[in-house]
Amino acid sequence: MTPSINKEVSDTRLADYSKNKCPQCGEWLLAPEWSEYRSERCVRHTWSCDMCGYAFETDVFFAAAA
Ligand SMILES: [Zn+2]
Repeated sequence: MTPSINKEVSDTRLADYSKNKCPQCGEWLLAPEWSEYRSERCVRHTWSCDMCGYAFETDVFFAAAA
């Protein structure tokens, strides 16, 4: 395992869906509305808040497999 340019990876896991909050109203979002694999190591989640209708995207970068 080498230190690399990964960012926001320290506690990222494959199923790390369960701790996203709506930035608008603070409602907990349990699962992304849509997940798009941009590469082997990057997934973009599209979130949509049921409470206020706010939609946003997050990019998740996975550490390279050892
Ligand atoms: Zn919301």
